[in-house]
Amino acid sequence: MFNGIFTLRNVSVPASALGRVDGSVARHDISVTDGIITAIGPATTGAGDLGGRLVLPCFTDIHTHLDKGHIWPRKENPDGTWTGALQAVLSDRTGRWVADDVARRMDFSLRCAWAHGTAAIRTHLDSNPPQHDISFAVFEEMRARWAGRIELQAVALFGPDVMQDRAALNAVAARAKAAGGLLGGSLAVFEQSKQAMLALVETAGNHGLDLDLHTDETGDPGAHALRHLAEAVLETGYTGRVMAGHCCVLTVQDGETVARTIDTAARAGIAVVSLPMCNIYLQDRAPGRTPIRRGATLLQEMKAAGMTVAVASDNTRDPFYAYGDLDGIEVLRESVRILHLDHPQDMAWDWLRAITSAPAAHGGFAHTGTLRVGGPADMIVTRARSWTELMSRPQTDRVVIRAGQQIDTTPPDYAELDDLMGAGAPE
Ligand SMILES: [Zn+2]
Repeated sequence: MFNGIFTLRNVSVPASALGRVDGSVARHDISVTDGIITAIGPATTGAGDLGGRLVLPCFTDIHTHLDKGHIWPRKENPDGTWTGALQAVLSDRTGRWVADDVARRMDFSLRCAWAHGTAAIRTHLDSNPPQHDISFAVFEEMRARWAGRIELQAVALFGPDVMQDRAALNAVAARAKAAGGLLGGSLAVFEQSKQAMLALVETAGNHGLDLDLHTDETGDPGAHALRHLAEAVLETGYTGRVMAGHCCVLTVQDGETVARTIDTAARAGIAVVSLPMCNIYLQDRAPGRTPIRRGATLLQEMKAAGMTVAVASDNTRDPFYAYGDLDGIEVLRESVRILHLDHPQDMAWDWLRAITSAPAAHGGFAHTGTLRVGGPADMIVTRARSWTELMSRPQTDRVVIRAGQQIDTTPPDYAELDDLMGAGAPE
């Protein structure tokens, strides 16, 4: 057990884990005293030699839905599509998402994330009135309960109906502001797309809120929400931070349209988060047909254009994604495979920043997602010693150290939620 004063002797540490834009890995000794990293020096050999096991910073999961999590047993997605998911969630939310229900599922999700080594989470909260009052109150309670373990941020999520209703939009923005949250929303193909983005950006500016949107989560090439968002930011002079999630449509549009959107988004300073596991579940799904277009956005091109890029969990065991457990290693591993982040090999490790320091810095978290002298000893020690060893197993035997103490990495038991699942609970 790692606890108190100890040294992780002769461990492999990616340079990206130290906050550098760099694909290299080197052996180090990491010394810890009373929860703080006191030294990161050249590797030595001797007692407690860990033989090159990889040490990673704790994760920053910048795009999740803690309010929806784990409803799958009582509300499945009927056909596995995005529309099916939207309707299923709407029907489950109506009347069922009372404070106790949301709180218990949220706490369950946070215990999963904690067990896997996540230190910071941003969650979207379905905020169509009156749900915004219920869910933001639960969120505030949960943020206090988890303070010092998982740092939490919340984004108000809603559809174009709220974007077009100034009174509703202002009410939701005010609630998000009171909770220290962000303004969000989801938009894809929509006739008044540009006007909706202008309304959103102006409202965020008026309330002093940062933005985090679901944009273009579709395979319909007529969607341009990301470009319209970027144009709205540039035209209004909005100075808050902006993140856009999904951006699936870029995988089906022509080269000129894609180049224009990425250029505009880069100039507007927009950060993008890709949710590859959710995308391959929902995108291009049709009965009896094998999917061809997998929907995970052009993250390599965005990174090359100088944009901040991240990967994250998105949904867990709800109609938008039937699986998932808020496990940063699973997200990184699947993102690498789906988005081909593993070549060129000498820069593969740099993508670790996409689920650690890059989203942490963009989100303004106290958790930096880096290993640094003087910083908290929040880290993950794996049995893997190399990239291929890390990517080839789920790393369920990882050691998680939080504030210098090795924690119990047993995830919570699903049976705890059975009484919330009604007829959907296993017999
Ligand atoms: Zn989402």
